[in-house]
Amino acid sequence: MSKVQRPAKAPVLPYTPAADRYETMSYRRCGASGLKLPAISLGLWHNFGGDSPHENKRAMCQTAFDHGITHFDLANNYGPPPGSAEEAFGQILRYDFHGYRDELIISSKAGYLMWPGPYGEMGSRKYLVASCDQSLKRMGLDYVDIFYSHRFDPETPLEETMGALDYIVRSGRALYVGISSYNSEKTRQAAAILKELGTPCLIHQPSYNLLNRWTEHDGLWGTLDDLGIGSIAFTPLAQGILTKKYLGGIPEGSRATQGKSLLEGMINERSLASVRALNDMAETRGQTLAQMAIAWVLREGRATTALIGASKPEQIVDCAGAVANLEFSADELAEIDRISSEEDINLWAKSSET
Ligand code: NAP
Repeated sequence: MSKVQRPAKAPVLPYTPAADRYETMSYRRCGASGLKLPAISLGLWHNFGGDSPHENKRAMCQTAFDHGITHFDLANNYGPPPGSAEEAFGQILRYDFHGYRDELIISSKAGYLMWPGPYGEMGSRKYLVASCDQSLKRMGLDYVDIFYSHRFDPETPLEETMGALDYIVRSGRALYVGISSYNSEKTRQAAAILKELGTPCLIHQPSYNLLNRWTEHDGLWGTLDDLGIGSIAFTPLAQGILTKKYLGGIPEGSRATQGKSLLEGMINERSLASVRALNDMAETRGQTLAQMAIAWVLREGRATTALIGASKPEQIVDCAGAVANLEFSADELAEIDRISSEEDINLWAKSSET
């Protein structure tokens, strides 16, 4: 076996996962498949790029795994710069999670702009296969567990995009496939093509939270149930709006100060009025607002798993605590619908509208 070389700035403190890591997390079947996912998964979209300290990335991944979070979600373009989150995770796999690959579910995606020219984004076979190869290389993996079409491409035949996903599985690059931000109609079409090819669609990744309910208007949840496809709801905390952090203004270092994806206009009097009322309700339930927001996307088996992001390990501990209470009474659910306003925060709407 070849000896692993340490890079110049290799982490020095060895990591041993917590022995009780499987004791509190719950694991839920992903649609009609054989795969179970943790109720909470960790995404590496923000705070894992080349501009963030590696020690914090390590601490977040270790904390997640210690709390039973076995699923880590990546994409080709996560950074900045694009690709750097996969590189950082590759390093964590080599030095921290070495020996634990079979306890982890690792996903990646392709769809958004990754490299210049006509083959660096969207849904062609040329792009998806090349991008998957690049992701595997950056992470130092032989295969990912789940590979996604990151968005619907209206200009590429769906047969080609789904054919590329099927090929990615058949060629050993991924075990399962999924789609992200596809609407019900396209999901049905995609699932039918994949079924015929013999590679079932495992999972759908839509944005979903108390303030963003496009999936309810679209009927996506019923579609997924019909088709036996599982789901992973991204931005369950509305990028941090569904926590207490913005109730007293915009704190230094928060995502809203970075001007990247959480735009200041999204935090307004209307959304904050909802957040205040929801926060009161969470306190009555004995949960933090983040925990209640996560429990809500998981309620009654709605989403298989809630895909959170974090900027520090403590946030992951808080979020993992959501599994202690996933139950809502009918009165609570009705009250939540009454006090939560739908906000214009779905940055991914274009994919589901085409
Ligand atoms: P999110 O969970 O809605 O927001 C995460 C942010 O909320 C954190 O960065 C942090 O903000 C704050 N936060 C988290 N836990 C907290 C806590 N306990 N208390 C206070 N604040 C807390 O999700 P997201 O990061 O926007 O997205 C999650 C993942 O979804 C991504 O990493 C990615 O894997 C996936 N995603 C997929 C797509 C797609 O197109 N498929 C698109 C977007 C995201 P601060 O940084 O301000 O501390």
